[in-house]
Amino acid sequence: MRIGIISDVHSNLPALEAVTAFLRRQDVEKIIHAGDIVGYNAFPNEALRVFWERNILSILGNHDCGAIGRENISAFNPAAKVAMQWTAASLGEQERKYLGCLARRIKERIGGRRVCVIHGHPDDDIRYTYAGEAAEPLLERTVSEILILGHTHEPFIRRFESGVIINPGSVGQPRDGDWRASCAVMDTYTLRAQVHRLEYPVKKTQEANRAAGLPEALSERLSLGR
Ligand code: ZN
Repeated sequence: MRIGIISDVHSNLPALEAVTAFLRRQDVEKIIHAGDIVGYNAFPNEALRVFWERNILSILGNHDCGAIGRENISAFNPAAKVAMQWTAASLGEQERKYLGCLARRIKERIGGRRVCVIHGHPDDDIRYTYAGEAAEPLLERTVSEILILGHTHEPFIRRFESGVIINPGSVGQPRDGDWRASCAVMDTYTLRAQVHRLEYPVKKTQEANRAAGLPEALSERLSLGR
């Protein structure tokens, strides 16, 4: 089975649309998202409706939890906190309920494989797992053959004898120096995966962010991939 793997959409609708259009052309049967649908940018409701309509399988990230009052946002940096408060105030009733129905982790059999989806790290949902820390024992600990992580906004794929650990990077706010939206496609039979980068109309997101009065730094970083 071919699956699309995405993470950290962060209310960036133009980036999400570019990614879903690409994944449709890639003939993926399912799209899995490793958390943080909302936060930072100006399209929380629109992004959530895409998840709904396209039946994207998602967990809650720390920003999603913050938006529905399930996580203390005092540890967020100032710009993230402003965006979080704006997001919480802007969420529609249906969209808030939709978020409220998601879980923090998913453990499912997909394409004949044991798949585990966690936002940060198996020990802690908000701990960052960079490529160097993504070691084989994490597969054993999560009893999975495919471990999907997000949160760092930096893509990597690490293959081991017992499976693969993958972070598809961020759709809506990449931080690896490449501004283009990031996503991955995986064949669950061979466990081969590839990260793809897609251009999208970043100005649309920046203009919407400015119109919403969100901190300028959140728009500037989108062009830099930082
Ligand atoms: Zn994030």
